[in-house]
Amino acid sequence: MKAIRIHNHGNEEQLVVDSISKPEQAADELLIRVKTAALNHLDLWVREGIPGVPLPLIMGSDAAGVVEAVGPLAERDFSFKTEDEVLTVPIRSCGHCRFCVSGQENLCAQFHIPGESVQGTQAEWITVPAKYALPKPKALSWAEAAALPLAAMTAYQMLFTKVRLSYGQRILIYGASSGVGSMAVQMAKAVGAEVFTTVGNDEKANLAKQLGADHVIHYKKENIAARVKEQTGGAGVDVVFEHTGEKTWADSLRVLRKGGKLVTCGATTGPIVRIDLRALFIKHQQLIGSTMGTLNDMHGVLKMVENRQLKPVIGKEFPAEEIRQAHAFLAEGRSFGKVVVNFA
Ligand SMILES: [Zn+2]
Repeated sequence: MKAIRIHNHGNEEQLVVDSISKPEQAADELLIRVKTAALNHLDLWVREGIPGVPLPLIMGSDAAGVVEAVGPLAERDFSFKTEDEVLTVPIRSCGHCRFCVSGQENLCAQFHIPGESVQGTQAEWITVPAKYALPKPKALSWAEAAALPLAAMTAYQMLFTKVRLSYGQRILIYGASSGVGSMAVQMAKAVGAEVFTTVGNDEKANLAKQLGADHVIHYKKENIAARVKEQTGGAGVDVVFEHTGEKTWADSLRVLRKGGKLVTCGATTGPIVRIDLRALFIKHQQLIGSTMGTLNDMHGVLKMVENRQLKPVIGKEFPAEEIRQAHAFLAEGRSFGKVVVNFA
């Protein structure tokens, strides 16, 4: 079968479509024929080299496809059957530590994300523990279903599990065109928040407005902090949704109001930032870290899809053979929404 793998870290040239043997499902697993797998920024970091990546590695954290075989325990405990249409949840954890049993799998000492520290989803067939497969929402295409899990769980955990965003609050969400940003804008609007977001060009500005953003800031030609301050009468926002890091950090703290919360899941422009502790404590602010989400967050995501409050935005679809072009497209920031690869 075809599998997108890396054997070494480096640029896009390291991505190869290998021919490897089809996997066999364990007793508690499903064998899934993948229709579509999604890319995330994580794929770029993994390809470039982060610690703990087993090589060679099948890339990718998300997939949607059709169940082709069901292990006996997966059938007994989860009632899956062949031809079921599913999406996969990018969580692997021990299942029995105090974090796992309290629904905080991403704090488990054995927490893994497929395509990072265990084999990933960008292959014609994959095996997945039945507890980490869920029915594909009927309203979503294969591409939309594959695009959903990692980005949406990440946004959901940040907005609702971590900062409990609510009606009437003001939030600054960086990068409406990114996978996680495009999900977060929709989720924040669904609960009645006032959304400020940033984009790099006019075309992306229009798409951000279509997603529901109230205020769209062109970060290349406008000062983000000045625009937010002007629109809020100097008060700033209740929540900053960060995933960019160094380049935006100073603006993020400048626009965060008294009692505000900054939640971050990424550092695409660099990881080292400065903090004036006096401002932090005098303003009663909170800085909160967040990585990925839990199975419980994924159920929240699916509820929003079912309620028509959330629909993944697909930037571009590539055939699996064009994985190098797909990585370049994502890395260059040309996409509005998610980039996916098709195996069908
Ligand atoms: Zn655990």
